[in-house]
Amino acid sequence: MVKIGIMGLTGCSGCQCEILNCEEAIYRLIEKVEISYFPLAQDNNSFGEFEILFVEGSVTTEEDERKVKEGRERAKFLVAVGSCACYGGVQSQRNDEASLEEMLLAVYGRKELPVKVQKPRAVSEVVKVDYELPGCPLDKRQFVYAVASILNGVKPFFPKIPVCHECKLSETECLTLKGIPCQGPVTFAGCGAPCTASGVGCQGCRGNCDFPNFEEMVEILKKNGLSTGDAVKFLKVFRGYQSKEIKLSEGVVENEKGA
Ligand code: SF4
Ligand code: SF4
Repeated sequence: MVKIGIMGLTGCSGCQCEILNCEEAIYRLIEKVEISYFPLAQDNNSFGEFEILFVEGSVTTEEDERKVKEGRERAKFLVAVGSCACYGGVQSQRNDEASLEEMLLAVYGRKELPVKVQKPRAVSEVVKVDYELPGCPLDKRQFVYAVASILNGVKPFFPKIPVCHECKLSETECLTLKGIPCQGPVTFAGCGAPCTASGVGCQGCRGNCDFPNFEEMVEILKKNGLSTGDAVKFLKVFRGYQSKEIKLSEGVVENEKGA
């Protein structure tokens, strides 16, 4: 029987819980495949060969790095699930802010940790990744679609259109017009835009859509009450290494007074 594995690195396990939330689809899945490795959900696990290995979490410890490299060697397809695995996650916000020691001192009052930690990295920064299912957490419909596609020899396709597209499809009134900060114009759709439908601006949890216009996004966020600095911080929360794409021209930075 085809074997699949579900592995957790540094993260909150929310994506693995979301996979468990697939419920009916999981029952149908285990008729066709053996979930041979899923330590969060079962006692008996075998770290053997996998048709598909799903990896949640960022690579933040030496143990994470060892596990994901070993997993890569054993997996025909490796799929990063969730924004920690795809981009580095919210924990990677610290990468450019201060040294690890400075942060430990500020938060815990000491510089030592019981495990040796590195700068959080996306899985693709360490090993080859075949597919990515971003989101915080991932969208369970996309998980089911990806499993079904791969097992049937079809390449799963996720168009990198912006979340605004999904607002239009669901006839959600645009929040930016109501003065609510929203990252939909620069964020990769696929979630069905549940946040905007609830009146909460998109937080960018699925990372960059294709051709994001960050300059214009920052200008819109400023119109909705954020300073340039806060707009950039807002955009960086989930984007991890993708934050490097947020480049502003002098004009936008100087225009801070208009915020
Ligand atoms: S609410 Fe946000 S995601 Fe929806 S259309 Fe407006 S800007 Fe785009
Ligand atoms: S609307 Fe934005 S923050 Fe909400 S789930 Fe979708 S991508 Fe994530």
